Amino acid sequence: MPYTLTRYPFPPAVRHLRLAARTTLAPGYVRLRMVEAQPGELEGFVAPGGGDHVRVVVGSPEGGAVDLDSDGIPLGASRTETVVDHDVELGYLDLDVLVHGDPGAELGVIGAWAARAPLGSAAVVMGPKGSVVLAGEPGHVVLAADDSALPAVRRYLAMLGPGITGDLLLETRHDPASLGIEPAPGLRVSILTPDADRPSAALVAALASLPAPDDAAERFVFACGEQSIVAPVRALLGRWGIDVERAVVKGYWRRTAD
Ligand SMILES: Cc1cc2nc3c(=O)[nH]c(=O)nc-3n(C[C@H](O)[C@H](O)[C@H](O)COP(=O)(O)OP(=O)(O)OC[C@H]3O[C@@H](n4cnc5c(N)ncnc54)[C@H](O)[C@@H]3O)c2cc1C
Repeated sequence: MPYTLTRYPFPPAVRHLRLAARTTLAPGYVRLRMVEAQPGELEGFVAPGGGDHVRVVVGSPEGGAVDLDSDGIPLGASRTETVVDHDVELGYLDLDVLVHGDPGAELGVIGAWAARAPLGSAAVVMGPKGSVVLAGEPGHVVLAADDSALPAVRRYLAMLGPGITGDLLLETRHDPASLGIEPAPGLRVSILTPDADRPSAALVAALASLPAPDDAAERFVFACGEQSIVAPVRALLGRWGIDVERAVVKGYWRRTAD
Protein backbone atom coordinates (compact mmCIF):
# COMPACT_ATOMS: atom_id res chain seq x y z
CA MET A 1 0.00 0.00 0.00
CA PRO A 2 1.26 3.54 -0.62
CA TYR A 3 2.45 5.59 2.30
CA THR A 4 2.84 9.27 3.04
CA LEU A 5 5.54 11.11 4.93
CA THR A 6 4.33 14.46 6.21
CA ARG A 7 6.39 17.13 7.92
CA TYR A 8 4.64 19.25 10.57
CA PRO A 9 6.31 22.30 12.12
CA PHE A 10 5.81 22.98 15.83
CA PRO A 11 6.19 26.32 17.66
CA PRO A 12 9.40 26.78 19.64
CA ALA A 13 9.32 25.60 23.23
CA VAL A 14 11.86 25.69 26.04
CA ARG A 15 11.23 23.27 28.91
CA HIS A 16 13.04 22.96 32.22
CA LEU A 17 13.48 19.40 33.38
CA ARG A 18 15.58 17.48 35.85
CA LEU A 19 17.15 14.06 35.79
CA ALA A 20 14.95 11.66 37.74
CA ALA A 21 16.35 8.23 36.88
CA ARG A 22 19.11 6.54 34.91
CA THR A 23 18.91 2.97 33.63
CA THR A 24 21.77 1.15 31.93
CA LEU A 25 20.33 -0.55 28.84
CA ALA A 26 23.63 -1.98 27.63
CA PRO A 27 27.27 -1.11 28.28
CA GLY A 28 27.60 2.46 27.01
CA TYR A 29 23.89 3.05 26.52
CA VAL A 30 21.74 4.67 29.19
CA ARG A 31 18.09 5.65 29.43
CA LEU A 32 17.45 8.96 31.15
CA ARG A 33 14.10 9.74 32.65
CA MET A 34 13.64 13.51 32.73
CA VAL A 35 10.82 14.99 34.77
CA GLU A 36 9.34 18.47 34.99
CA ALA A 37 11.29 20.91 37.13
CA GLN A 38 7.94 22.66 37.72
CA PRO A 39 4.46 21.30 36.98
CA GLY A 40 3.34 22.16 33.45
CA GLU A 41 6.80 22.27 31.82
CA LEU A 42 5.79 19.52 29.38
CA GLU A 43 2.39 20.99 28.59
CA GLY A 44 1.70 20.71 24.87
CA PHE A 45 4.64 18.38 24.26
CA VAL A 46 4.02 16.06 21.29
CA ALA A 47 6.33 13.78 19.34
CA PRO A 48 4.21 11.63 17.03
CA GLY A 49 6.92 10.81 14.46
CA GLY A 50 9.33 7.87 14.76
CA GLY A 51 12.42 10.05 14.66
CA ASP A 52 11.09 13.09 16.51
CA HIS A 53 13.83 14.66 18.57
CA VAL A 54 14.67 17.43 21.01
CA ARG A 55 17.71 19.58 21.64
CA VAL A 56 19.08 19.17 25.14
CA VAL A 57 21.34 21.55 27.06
CA VAL A 58 22.91 20.29 30.25
CA GLY A 59 25.28 21.63 32.91
CA SER A 60 28.58 20.00 33.79
CA PRO A 61 28.70 16.21 34.18
CA GLU A 62 29.00 16.81 37.92
CA GLY A 63 25.54 18.46 37.82
CA GLY A 64 24.61 22.05 38.51
CA ALA A 65 22.62 24.70 36.75
CA VAL A 66 22.20 25.34 33.04
CA ASP A 67 23.15 28.95 32.31
CA LEU A 68 20.39 30.98 30.65
CA ASP A 69 20.43 34.26 28.76
CA SER A 70 18.15 37.18 29.67
CA ASP A 71 15.34 35.65 27.56
CA GLY A 72 15.57 32.33 29.38
CA ILE A 73 17.24 30.61 26.43
CA PRO A 74 19.94 28.18 27.53
CA LEU A 75 23.56 29.02 26.82
CA GLY A 76 26.04 26.32 25.93
CA ALA A 77 26.20 23.50 23.45
CA SER A 78 23.09 21.45 22.78
CA ARG A 79 22.85 17.85 21.67
CA THR A 80 19.98 16.30 19.72
CA GLU A 81 18.31 13.19 21.15
CA THR A 82 15.35 11.11 19.98
CA VAL A 83 12.22 11.16 22.12
CA VAL A 84 11.83 7.50 23.06
CA ASP A 85 8.85 7.94 25.38
CA HIS A 86 6.94 10.69 27.14
CA ASP A 87 3.79 11.29 29.14
CA VAL A 88 2.59 14.82 29.63
CA GLU A 89 0.11 13.83 32.37
CA LEU A 90 2.78 12.03 34.35
CA GLY A 91 5.32 14.71 33.48
CA TYR A 92 8.21 12.70 32.07
CA LEU A 93 10.32 12.38 28.95
CA ASP A 94 12.73 9.48 28.26
CA LEU A 95 15.92 9.71 26.19
CA ASP A 96 18.34 6.89 25.33
CA VAL A 97 21.89 8.21 25.16
CA LEU A 98 24.96 6.54 23.74
CA VAL A 99 28.00 7.16 25.95
CA HIS A 100 31.50 7.27 24.48
CA GLY A 101 34.74 6.82 26.36
CA ASP A 102 35.72 4.71 29.35
CA PRO A 103 33.72 4.53 32.56
CA GLY A 104 34.68 7.53 34.68
CA ALA A 105 36.25 9.26 31.65
CA GLU A 106 33.20 9.54 29.42
CA LEU A 107 33.50 11.84 26.42
CA GLY A 108 31.22 14.49 25.03
CA VAL A 109 28.65 16.90 26.40
CA ILE A 110 25.56 14.76 26.75
CA GLY A 111 27.40 11.43 27.03
CA ALA A 112 29.40 12.38 30.12
CA TRP A 113 26.35 14.02 31.68
CA ALA A 114 24.18 11.01 30.92
CA ALA A 115 26.70 8.73 32.57
CA ARG A 116 27.60 10.77 35.64
CA ALA A 117 25.28 13.67 36.49
CA PRO A 118 23.66 13.28 39.90
CA LEU A 119 19.94 12.60 39.96
CA GLY A 120 18.14 15.91 40.26
CA SER A 121 20.52 17.68 37.85
CA ALA A 122 18.95 20.34 35.65
CA ALA A 123 18.51 20.10 31.87
CA VAL A 124 16.76 22.30 29.36
CA VAL A 125 14.96 20.68 26.45
CA MET A 126 13.97 22.54 23.28
CA GLY A 127 11.56 21.22 20.67
CA PRO A 128 10.62 19.08 18.91
CA LYS A 129 10.64 21.85 16.34
CA GLY A 130 8.66 19.60 14.05
CA SER A 131 7.55 16.09 13.35
CA VAL A 132 7.89 13.71 10.41
CA VAL A 133 4.89 11.40 10.41
CA LEU A 134 4.68 8.23 8.37
CA ALA A 135 1.15 7.11 7.53
CA GLY A 136 -0.07 4.11 5.59
CA GLU A 137 1.78 0.85 5.04
CA PRO A 138 4.85 0.85 2.81
CA GLY A 139 5.17 -2.40 0.88
CA HIS A 140 8.88 -2.53 1.64
CA VAL A 141 10.82 -0.74 4.36
CA VAL A 142 14.54 -0.18 4.57
CA LEU A 143 15.71 0.88 8.02
CA ALA A 144 19.45 1.53 8.26
CA ALA A 145 21.03 2.90 11.42
CA ASP A 146 24.12 3.14 13.55
CA ASP A 147 24.05 3.16 17.37
CA SER A 148 22.94 6.77 17.63
CA ALA A 149 19.83 6.04 15.54
CA LEU A 150 18.79 2.82 17.28
CA PRO A 151 16.22 4.67 19.44
CA ALA A 152 14.56 6.03 16.30
CA VAL A 153 14.59 2.60 14.64
CA ARG A 154 12.92 1.11 17.71
CA ARG A 155 10.15 3.68 17.45
CA TYR A 156 9.70 3.13 13.72
CA LEU A 157 9.48 -0.63 14.25
CA ALA A 158 6.81 -0.16 16.90
CA MET A 159 4.85 2.20 14.65
CA LEU A 160 5.13 0.04 11.52
CA GLY A 161 3.89 -3.06 13.36
CA PRO A 162 4.58 -6.78 12.96
CA GLY A 163 3.29 -7.09 9.39
CA ILE A 164 6.03 -5.14 7.59
CA THR A 165 8.52 -6.61 5.15
CA GLY A 166 11.89 -5.26 4.14
CA ASP A 167 15.45 -4.85 5.36
CA LEU A 168 16.84 -3.83 8.75
CA LEU A 169 20.51 -2.89 8.56
CA LEU A 170 22.18 -2.07 11.87
CA GLU A 171 25.82 -1.02 12.25
CA THR A 172 26.28 -1.78 15.91
CA ARG A 173 28.28 -3.64 18.52
CA HIS A 174 25.26 -3.73 20.82
CA ASP A 175 22.87 -6.61 21.13
CA PRO A 176 19.84 -5.00 19.47
CA ALA A 177 17.50 -7.00 21.75
CA SER A 178 19.06 -5.39 24.83
CA LEU A 179 17.98 -2.04 23.41
CA GLY A 180 14.44 -3.27 22.82
CA ILE A 181 14.81 -3.73 19.05
CA GLU A 182 12.31 -6.41 18.04
CA PRO A 183 12.35 -6.87 14.25
CA ALA A 184 9.13 -7.94 12.58
CA PRO A 185 9.34 -11.50 11.17
CA GLY A 186 9.20 -10.19 7.61
CA LEU A 187 12.41 -8.15 7.97
CA ARG A 188 15.79 -9.41 6.78
CA VAL A 189 18.19 -8.36 9.54
CA SER A 190 21.86 -7.56 8.90
CA ILE A 191 24.13 -6.68 11.81
CA LEU A 192 27.17 -4.85 10.46
CA THR A 193 30.43 -4.35 12.31
CA PRO A 194 31.28 -0.68 12.86
CA ASP A 195 34.67 0.57 11.69
CA ALA A 196 35.73 3.49 13.91
CA ASP A 197 37.77 4.96 11.03
CA ARG A 198 34.92 4.73 8.54
CA PRO A 199 31.69 5.04 10.53
CA SER A 200 28.55 4.29 8.51
CA ALA A 201 30.58 2.96 5.56
CA ALA A 202 29.19 -0.54 6.20
CA LEU A 203 25.66 0.85 6.15
CA VAL A 204 26.28 2.62 2.85
CA ALA A 205 27.71 -0.56 1.28
CA ALA A 206 24.83 -2.71 2.52
CA LEU A 207 22.26 -0.22 1.24
CA ALA A 208 23.97 -0.06 -2.15
CA SER A 209 23.80 -3.85 -2.46
CA LEU A 210 20.01 -3.95 -2.08
CA PRO A 211 18.04 -4.48 -5.29
CA ALA A 212 16.20 -1.50 -6.73
CA PRO A 213 12.52 -1.46 -5.80
CA ASP A 214 9.93 -2.88 -8.17
CA ASP A 215 7.74 0.09 -7.20
CA ALA A 216 9.59 3.11 -5.83
CA ALA A 217 6.39 4.50 -4.30
CA GLU A 218 6.21 1.45 -2.02
CA ARG A 219 9.71 1.67 -0.52
CA PHE A 220 10.21 3.71 2.64
CA VAL A 221 13.84 4.41 3.54
CA PHE A 222 15.16 5.58 6.91
CA ALA A 223 18.95 5.81 6.87
CA CYS A 224 20.70 7.68 9.67
CA GLY A 225 24.20 7.49 11.05
CA GLU A 226 27.44 9.42 10.77
CA GLN A 227 27.27 12.47 8.46
CA SER A 228 29.08 10.66 5.62
CA ILE A 229 25.98 8.50 5.11
CA VAL A 230 23.96 11.37 3.66
CA ALA A 231 25.43 12.03 0.20
CA PRO A 232 25.73 8.40 -0.99
CA VAL A 233 22.28 7.45 0.27
CA ARG A 234 20.69 10.47 -1.39
CA ALA A 235 22.40 9.43 -4.62
CA LEU A 236 21.09 5.89 -4.14
CA LEU A 237 17.56 7.20 -3.62
CA GLY A 238 17.92 9.00 -6.94
CA ARG A 239 18.95 5.76 -8.66
CA TRP A 240 15.99 3.97 -7.06
CA GLY A 241 13.60 6.72 -8.18
CA ILE A 242 12.66 7.69 -4.62
CA ASP A 243 12.08 11.37 -3.87
CA VAL A 244 14.34 12.39 -0.99
CA GLU A 245 11.34 14.10 0.65
CA ARG A 246 9.70 10.67 0.97
CA ALA A 247 12.65 9.31 2.92
CA VAL A 248 14.51 10.13 6.14
CA VAL A 249 18.24 10.43 5.54
CA LYS A 250 20.24 12.29 8.17
CA GLY A 251 23.66 12.67 9.69
CA TYR A 252 23.14 12.11 13.42
CA TRP A 253 26.71 12.99 14.33
CA ARG A 254 29.97 14.00 12.70
CA ARG A 255 33.26 12.20 13.20
CA THR A 256 35.95 14.54 14.45
CA ALA A 257 39.59 14.10 13.50
CA ASP A 258 41.59 12.36 16.26
C1 LIG B 1 17.90 13.82 14.79
C2 LIG B 1 18.94 13.24 15.73
C3 LIG B 1 18.58 12.30 16.69
C4 LIG B 1 19.53 11.76 17.53
N1 LIG B 1 19.14 10.84 18.46
C5 LIG B 1 20.06 10.31 19.32
C6 LIG B 1 19.66 9.39 20.33
O1 LIG B 1 18.48 9.09 20.51
N2 LIG B 1 20.64 8.88 21.13
C7 LIG B 1 21.97 9.21 20.98
O2 LIG B 1 22.81 8.71 21.72
N3 LIG B 1 22.37 10.09 20.03
C8 LIG B 1 21.44 10.65 19.22
N4 LIG B 1 21.84 11.56 18.27
C9 LIG B 1 23.26 11.94 18.23
C10 LIG B 1 23.54 12.99 19.34
O3 LIG B 1 23.03 14.25 18.91
C11 LIG B 1 25.01 13.22 19.71
O4 LIG B 1 25.78 13.41 18.57
C12 LIG B 1 25.62 12.15 20.49
O5 LIG B 1 24.79 11.87 21.62
C13 LIG B 1 27.03 12.52 20.95
O6 LIG B 1 27.02 13.67 21.78
P1 LIG B 1 28.09 13.84 22.93
O7 LIG B 1 27.91 15.20 23.51
O8 LIG B 1 28.04 12.67 23.87
O9 LIG B 1 29.48 13.72 22.19
P2 LIG B 1 30.22 14.81 21.27
O10 LIG B 1 30.77 15.91 22.12
O11 LIG B 1 29.33 15.20 20.15
O12 LIG B 1 31.42 13.92 20.72
C14 LIG B 1 32.42 13.35 21.59
C15 LIG B 1 33.26 12.39 20.79
O13 LIG B 1 32.49 11.22 20.48
C16 LIG B 1 32.44 11.02 19.07
N5 LIG B 1 31.11 10.52 18.74
C17 LIG B 1 29.93 11.21 18.82
N6 LIG B 1 28.90 10.44 18.45
C18 LIG B 1 29.44 9.23 18.13
C19 LIG B 1 28.88 8.00 17.67
N7 LIG B 1 27.56 7.84 17.46
N8 LIG B 1 29.73 6.97 17.46
C20 LIG B 1 31.07 7.08 17.67
N9 LIG B 1 31.65 8.23 18.11
C21 LIG B 1 30.85 9.29 18.33
C22 LIG B 1 32.73 12.39 18.45
O14 LIG B 1 33.28 12.27 17.15
C23 LIG B 1 33.73 12.96 19.43
O15 LIG B 1 35.03 12.49 19.18
C24 LIG B 1 20.89 12.15 17.43
C25 LIG B 1 21.25 13.13 16.49
C26 LIG B 1 20.29 13.67 15.64
C27 LIG B 1 20.70 14.72 14.63
